[in-house]
Amino acid sequence: MAFLILPTLFVITLGPTIPQVDRFSRRRLIATSATMPAMRTLDRRLRTSATGVLDTLFPPICAGCGRRGHWVCGDCRPTIQTLGEPACDRCGALWSLRCVCDQLPDAVISIRSAFPFDGWVRHAIHCLKYEGERARARHLGDLLIPLLPLGVRVDTVVPVPLHPTRLRERGFNQAMLLARRFSASLDDISVVEIARTGSVTPQVGLSSAERTANVANAFVVPDVKAVDGRNLVLIDDVITTTATVTACATALAEAGAHTIRCLSIARAE
Ligand SMILES: [Zn+2]
Ligand SMILES: [Zn+2]
Repeated sequence: MAFLILPTLFVITLGPTIPQVDRFSRRRLIATSATMPAMRTLDRRLRTSATGVLDTLFPPICAGCGRRGHWVCGDCRPTIQTLGEPACDRCGALWSLRCVCDQLPDAVISIRSAFPFDGWVRHAIHCLKYEGERARARHLGDLLIPLLPLGVRVDTVVPVPLHPTRLRERGFNQAMLLARRFSASLDDISVVEIARTGSVTPQVGLSSAERTANVANAFVVPDVKAVDGRNLVLIDDVITTTATVTACATALAEAGAHTIRCLSIARAE
């Protein structure tokens, strides 16, 4: 049995996971993919069974109250707030925040987040990042899908990278897990990694100006061909001052990205 379960867990932990978004959501997105149909079908079947095994071994737990069986239970679901319409249609600034469009490269079309960084959402992201609940990325990744407008063309998904030191400490990049889930929901379009260099100082606790300086020129695109002329979705778990996604988007734009849409689970103020 172990020889069956272990490779399955490998697929779940390191590879993209099974899409569980509804058919409508998947159909409404135009994604480009050159994967062979037969291989895709096989891959999907493997991932379907792998997801079932993982759910059996590590059943979902509500991040709000700890109840087993759901990522979010019926009691906690109504407590989750939405962000509502932003004050700025492009940078997604809320009414309480300053528009940062003047700092964005032209390629950035929009910045959108699903929820305020609070309550269940905050707990869920904490469980994913700091308690190693990687399987939770399956649920959180699906919550990014409605942020894409109808009919938007997406060629490639790019997760915001962790600094290599942080990646060694944590063992995984939560944005990569979200990006893999998101890409699987878009018919397995490619996920491209970019690199992070420079300071390892976390953004948490820094002022807006310090955050901008901390990540300036921190991102490098090793494979320019993978983003040149492409329509990208840049994914992070939490956007606070937009300094990190702005620095990432700037590196991607300089590498020739055609369009960039930045998505995150939560937006903090
Ligand atoms: Zn709950
Ligand atoms: Zn703006």
